[in-house]
Amino acid sequence: METDLYKRIYVAGHCGLVGSAIVRALKKRGYTEIITRTHDELELTNQEQVRDFFAEEAIDEVYLAAARVGGIYANNTFPAEFIYQNLVVQTNVIHEAWRNNVRKLLFLGSSCIYPRMAPQPIDEGCLMKGELEPTNEPYAMAKIAGIKLCESYNRQYGTDYRSVMPTNLYGSGDNYHPQNSHVIPALLRRFHEAKINDAASVVIWGTGTPRREFLYVDDMAEASVHIMELEDDIYQSHTSPMSSHINIGTGKDIAISDLAELIAKTVGYQGEIEFDTSKPDGTPRKCLDISCLQSLGWTPSIDLENGLIETYFSYCRDSIQNTRRSHARALDLESQKRRHEFSFNNTLSKSINNIIPEGLRQ
Ligand code: NDP
Repeated sequence: METDLYKRIYVAGHCGLVGSAIVRALKKRGYTEIITRTHDELELTNQEQVRDFFAEEAIDEVYLAAARVGGIYANNTFPAEFIYQNLVVQTNVIHEAWRNNVRKLLFLGSSCIYPRMAPQPIDEGCLMKGELEPTNEPYAMAKIAGIKLCESYNRQYGTDYRSVMPTNLYGSGDNYHPQNSHVIPALLRRFHEAKINDAASVVIWGTGTPRREFLYVDDMAEASVHIMELEDDIYQSHTSPMSSHINIGTGKDIAISDLAELIAKTVGYQGEIEFDTSKPDGTPRKCLDISCLQSLGWTPSIDLENGLIETYFSYCRDSIQNTRRSHARALDLESQKRRHEFSFNNTLSKSINNIIPEGLRQ
């Protein structure tokens, strides 16, 4: 079947890590009608706004990558916000999509929907076969409800709403917040700052032995578009009406200690790495079974080493842009700007040399 490159595709959450990668993947494939709204322009918890948006925009297809997302700290501190906002955003988008005849939609869940003691690697059939990890249970419950919403609309109304469960993601545009980021951006930032400050060591929580799986976000976006482009009968022959979600990952995991070494090497940090074994380790292993995805003809193409180099490059580029912006803000008068131009350029080139490792300088 020929792909319709002119269909109107709404990417919800296009400013985020995953949504921005999905927009890149769609553009790369030649889709031209990509509809986006920032959070300021469209509040997805507001049913009236979502209703008006779908009524006005004649959307053909939806990628639902808008969600309230965060690490353990945020999930544990704001459990009510995580369950409420995710339930309402996904309910509004899925219901208004159906009301406005959107036949195809992709819902993004997360591997945290699976029981904390699920057998490894985790296959799709493990859903609801055990207790969830308590630290992110409210978020996981909302995501499970999202899968069930899609399946219920498919069963009752004949829609084609699909769900994917990505593993841990990382890449360009990630969140580097000190308390609210995932493991790779958090470690990249800490090793980078340790390098700039000539710190003798970086301390990592736990023993370093837990194993985790990571997927580069542009691979995740390619897999999402691949799944949306599958013919109905192919998708249906690999899923069932009440178990329709598909894992997206690499199927390979890495010990946190090895990950830390790889990140230190990527950043160019040469100090010691220490492990604070008094801190908890969490689940010993978390890795997805991706045999369903592979049997649908998709495998990842960016390995962890290259993905980290790309990610660190974008982190440095964004840091430079932020430095440039804050300098520009400080120099508000034209005359001051000219007077300080020499020292500004000097500072900027010094900070570029400080933060970008030799191999990455252009
Ligand atoms: P981000 O936080 O980077 O992006 C989410 C986007 O959604 C942001 O642009 C955010 O805007 C927007 N958004 C959130 N709430 C609302 C709202 N009420 N109205 C309008 N826009 C809103 O998250 P990710 O890209 O990392 O995650 C996207 C999806 O991928 C989620 O469903 C997540 O569960 C899934 N996923 C992500 C993983 C990861 O490692 N990052 C792993 C597995 C799954 P703003 O920032 O302005 O609030």
